[in-house]
Amino acid sequence: MPSTADTSPTLGKMLLRGIVRCCPHCGNRHAFFTKWFVRRERCAGCGLRWERNYEGFMLGAMAVSFITTGEALLITMLIGVASTYPEVPLVPVLGSTVAVTVLVGVFGYPISYTLWQAVDLYLRPVSEDDGEMHARTILSDAPQQAAEAEGEGQGEGR
Ligand SMILES: [Zn+2]
Repeated sequence: MPSTADTSPTLGKMLLRGIVRCCPHCGNRHAFFTKWFVRRERCAGCGLRWERNYEGFMLGAMAVSFITTGEALLITMLIGVASTYPEVPLVPVLGSTVAVTVLVGVFGYPISYTLWQAVDLYLRPVSEDDGEMHARTILSDAPQQAAEAEGEGQGEGR
């Protein structure tokens, strides 16, 4: 079992792992998620912390989610308008756009987090701080999640 102090793979490899919802660092398939939306605080494979001990992590992950969802919205709308151009059927185009946006936004949510973690690991390589130093404090994670939910202004994003 590799320790978290090991160096991470290349950015491309980490992004590929992130897209398939694996741990970008060790590639463990069940890294952070016990179910599609249910995550644990540490990777099951390498023990890497989810939020990596800094405040802005969730904001970055939300930005990735926001960008991918927004792109899906635009692409769907453009395809709908372009393929039917002179007489655009408003309800089907809007309906399919909303459907795709909701699907990408909801089901892409975990992927946006592992993707962001790949970027984050590239920008800030794994350090001792990601290891076992804070293992004791993570065991009680419920109050921490409540605090972060009210900490960042996420009202306007989505
Ligand atoms: Zn891992």
